[in-house]
Amino acid sequence: MAIRMTVFGTGYLGATHAACMAERGHEVLGVDVDAEKAERLKAGDVPFYEPGLPEVLKRNIEAGRLRFTTSYEEAAEFGDVHFIGVGTPQRRGEYAADLKYVHSVIDTLGPLLKRPALIAGKSTVPVGTATELAERVARLSPVGDQVELAWNPEFLREGFAVKDTLEPDRIVAGVQPGGKAEAILREVYAKAVDAGTPFLVMDYATAELVKVSANAFLATKISFINAMAEMCEAVGGDVTLLADAIGHDTRIGRRFLNAGLGFGGGCLPKDIRAFMARAGELGADQALTFLREVDNINMRRRGRMVEIATEALGGTLIGKNVAVLGAAFKPDSDDVRDSPALNVAGMLQLKGAAVSVYDPKAMENSRKMFPTLGYSESVVDACEKADIVLVLTEWQEFRELDPAELEGVVRGRVVADGRNCLDARKWIDAGWNYRALGRNLST
Ligand code: NAD
Repeated sequence: MAIRMTVFGTGYLGATHAACMAERGHEVLGVDVDAEKAERLKAGDVPFYEPGLPEVLKRNIEAGRLRFTTSYEEAAEFGDVHFIGVGTPQRRGEYAADLKYVHSVIDTLGPLLKRPALIAGKSTVPVGTATELAERVARLSPVGDQVELAWNPEFLREGFAVKDTLEPDRIVAGVQPGGKAEAILREVYAKAVDAGTPFLVMDYATAELVKVSANAFLATKISFINAMAEMCEAVGGDVTLLADAIGHDTRIGRRFLNAGLGFGGGCLPKDIRAFMARAGELGADQALTFLREVDNINMRRRGRMVEIATEALGGTLIGKNVAVLGAAFKPDSDDVRDSPALNVAGMLQLKGAAVSVYDPKAMENSRKMFPTLGYSESVVDACEKADIVLVLTEWQEFRELDPAELEGVVRGRVVADGRNCLDARKWIDAGWNYRALGRNLST
């Protein structure tokens, strides 16, 4: 059965959710306070890079199932289910999450809800938020607790967001006992549930914890292998061989064991920090002190990358030309929030290098966030007269680079592979000095 639903916040999460819910046959209204974003989406133009999303968006706008607005009144009138997908960034100067956007949705929408409805939160929030919001909305709405609240965290990965939304690994429904929320969410996700997607019903707190603990686990797995990279650097081992070998153990698994520059983006770093902050507020800080180390290991890799570049250039970056390939926090995305690549590029520049950054999709966002860095329009442009080439985001285009193409372009044949994504042998055989994190192949 088609449900009339709204999605508040049409960024990476919300725009994808809105388009994919329409693809599943629902009638969807996306709502954003950013009028320009709403206008672009209305016109079928995705304001960020996400493979496959433009097609789903256009198809559903044309089918009349998907619209966008800035009007909360229109949204309250239209929807029976209201999803919340607004940002929950790290507070400036603190570890805790800033809930002002989530509160703003509830405080504006609540008084406009004059008939029973379901609000389903998808944003990543500190545990305890849903209970507080359920009380808040019941107080604000003219129909009181006939507006129910559910917590339905989102697990999509940028770069695979459409597939992850249409065919999720699991659906988590945090609900209060005795309500209609579970039945409504089963209807919303009927196609996925019918296709066998596990639909997991639990209390609010557990649902909120599922999301942040999943991210904490993934961050820990990455920092674990990066700690092993530090050990390999200390003794001359090779972390890629180590990862392959331990990854054969099915209890460990090879996925997410890629040593390199570590994690970044709009989720993992701020989510593990907010998780620690919340643990502290709950008097359970000891439970998560290990996450501080996970964060520290992750941030150390960025500094190490700068050291490797400096060492490879004879101890100084002053007067050196550095090509930085990659700006997005990961490939197949234009997201540069807390991007390790741009962080490294910034540090290299501060140490006196002339930096030229190229990324296939994230140039516009990078220029906005780091306007003082140098930018190029292609790999070859970025590498022009470079003393060192750093590969900091593992785009396929960079993985496939042929060192021969850069022959005569660069000034020095030195490459630093920040993602262990290049064919090291190919570069070494072509006469390059190949440097990487967690392995020493240069000699
Ligand atoms: P984003 O910054 O891309 O999008 C947030 C959107 O919300 C923006 O378009 C903003 O204009 C809009 N907004 C802000 N206040 C609003 C309001 N009061 N009413 C309506 N719209 C408003 O952020 P995102 O990456 O989509 O993340 C959103 C949430 O989803 C976060 O909690 C994040 O942790 C979580 N999440 C993100 C991902 C991901 O891969 N991006 C995955 C899972 C969970």
